[in-house]
Amino acid sequence: TKENQKESNVNGVKQNNGLNNNSSNDIPEDIQAVRKTLPVYVVRGRLLEEIKKHNTMIIMGETGSGKTTQIPQLIYEQQLESKFVIAVTQPRRVAAITLALRVAAEMKTEIGSIVGYSVRFEDVTSPTTKVKYLTDGMLLREAVADPLLKRYSTIILDEAHERTVNTDILFGIVKLAQKDRKEQKLNPLKVIIMSATMDVDAFRNFYDNCPVIYLEGRTYPVTIYHSKMRHEDYQYAAVCTIFQLHATTPANHDFLVFLTGQEEIETVLTNIKQIAKESPGPPIKVCPLYAGLPASKQLQVWKKTPPGMRKIVLATNIAEASVTIPEIKFVIDTGVVKERTWCTSTGAERLAVRACSQAAGWQRAGRAGRTAAGAAYRLYTARDFAARLAHNAPEIVRCPLTSSMLMLIATGMDPSTFPLIDSPPRDSIQASLLLLKELGAIDNENDPKLTILGKKMTAFPIDPKYSKVLLCAPEYNCLEEALSLVAVMSSENVFHTPLHKREEALKVKQKFISPLGDHITLLNVYKAFCKAPLKKQWCKENYLNHKNLSYAYEVRSQLLSVCQRLNLPITSCGNVLDQLLKCLLSGLFTNCAWARSGAGGAGAGGAGGARYVTSAGAAAALHPAGVLHCARPPPAAVLYTELLHTKRSYLVTVSAVQPQWLQQVAPEFARRCRSNR
Ligand code: ADP
Ligand code: MG
Repeated sequence: TKENQKESNVNGVKQNNGLNNNSSNDIPEDIQAVRKTLPVYVVRGRLLEEIKKHNTMIIMGETGSGKTTQIPQLIYEQQLESKFVIAVTQPRRVAAITLALRVAAEMKTEIGSIVGYSVRFEDVTSPTTKVKYLTDGMLLREAVADPLLKRYSTIILDEAHERTVNTDILFGIVKLAQKDRKEQKLNPLKVIIMSATMDVDAFRNFYDNCPVIYLEGRTYPVTIYHSKMRHEDYQYAAVCTIFQLHATTPANHDFLVFLTGQEEIETVLTNIKQIAKESPGPPIKVCPLYAGLPASKQLQVWKKTPPGMRKIVLATNIAEASVTIPEIKFVIDTGVVKERTWCTSTGAERLAVRACSQAAGWQRAGRAGRTAAGAAYRLYTARDFAARLAHNAPEIVRCPLTSSMLMLIATGMDPSTFPLIDSPPRDSIQASLLLLKELGAIDNENDPKLTILGKKMTAFPIDPKYSKVLLCAPEYNCLEEALSLVAVMSSENVFHTPLHKREEALKVKQKFISPLGDHITLLNVYKAFCKAPLKKQWCKENYLNHKNLSYAYEVRSQLLSVCQRLNLPITSCGNVLDQLLKCLLSGLFTNCAWARSGAGGAGAGGAGGARYVTSAGAAAALHPAGVLHCARPPPAAVLYTELLHTKRSYLVTVSAVQPQWLQQVAPEFARRCRSNR
């Protein structure tokens, strides 16, 4: 644990998690008193009776009723002597971390002792850990090593309504583990499915009509306002609404604003700080909340607002259900969410900002009625709302399955008979198996078995495309560089471009730019970061994001230790950067795009207007923030990291590659592309 704790410090997780460390103007919170008012606490006796009686059950309850923080504690108190562990899964890493910190504080223990958490690149647990919060992805990884999940007495699959691919697969894994443990006369496995609002019937059917417990929630009325007309720019609309409300409502009426991601949140945050200087109303404290924010910063959100001030929380959909912020008076709902999707027609994976479901809309509005009556301002019309889907389709039917499929095959289960609540489309399964085959992870697509390479791929907590890059790197003599690059790519945007200092930030960026493209530019930034003696100061001067680069640093050391365990030779390609790009292409070969013939020149669409067609046939342009955006002539072929779909489709993080490389690094795929094109 000592070591784990040290590591987590690097990431900004203070061991003394700051919950009790109130600075002078913060009001201390009486944790135990808050705890005792929660609906779950009030009915704890009856709840425990039910939990003891049944091996499988569903618990439904309003968000904020204490399911995630209280139920594991209740179970723990019942089995104090037990050597087994209680697992609680979360779809998001931020939620797993903050919830574990909260529970550790409630139980008055250090994080990493009795209460711990395990998320990608960070394991803060020890042999004494009995209540373990972890992401669904991490539990799935554990199932690869031990499909019976023998160290756990209870597994709580939380936020079931989110229906992430990983949770959906875990539903099946725990069901099979229960059955196998019974057959092998091992200790029984208790499974608890928890959720806010969801379609219970599907779950009940899946778990042989297990009992469902409904917790009485306690909420106050929330008045809902819709926009009268559509807004072109929801960020702008959000800022306007914030200041209209700010000028007309008293202090200590806190706001919660739903946005789609880190960059957007940072832009809006800068805007608010600027405008606040000249606008009437109480002093403002703005708190961001998104995945990737260091835990110490996340905790700011839960600090009580000092009297006479107003707190404005800018959050992604994480604040929708997985974490609860008390005392929010107004919710401002942009009505959008950023999602990774898989486009069935083109097979392209992409990241898109899209309208969220009605269920998400209700859930967001509900955040304003936790401690008193409140209001929700929807920045879309009532008509728009009515036209939305009631619920989102589960991820498993709309997302790429490569990574989960590899894990499933690694657990030794047969993807064709594996129990699932909703089956993914056949096309989607076939596409993932084909990709795994082309990556060299499985031997054939019909009765897939892991290859030696595939087995090694599962050792890395990253997408199989990227583990392939690392495993291929020794061939190209570039593992040193590949590790750095994959680490930076695992973190959020490292460039910090404040709106009011854009010109200057772009000028400073020049010194890192490589004509080869964004990937090498990122590598240059990372290398310079490692050399800089005063990193924080250096980042500030260079308009770089210190916390994201520190995160990359941490990720790299984790990936490095996996490489060392696998005995991979760690060598450098020096200045022969073509080697690194080829190596990158050997994992990301599906992310290739070609300049559209005849449309590439400066004449077509003007500067930066070059259009590309991806290997899956989608049309897209180079993202304006990329270094190749204005390259003349535009590269004939590129490798991109992400296909972003906003009003237009953009290739994000792009490098120029030689068209013939594809044939060299992924001949099977190149053949398939040629026959498709
Ligand atoms: P549920 O899982 O039912 O949505 P939780 O167990 O997550 O509910 O939260 C119960 C209550 O605990 C919340 O309403 C909130 O008041 C409080 N809470 C949870 N996390 C924190 C935190 N990090 N800091 C302060 N209060 C918290
Ligand atoms: Mg919860």
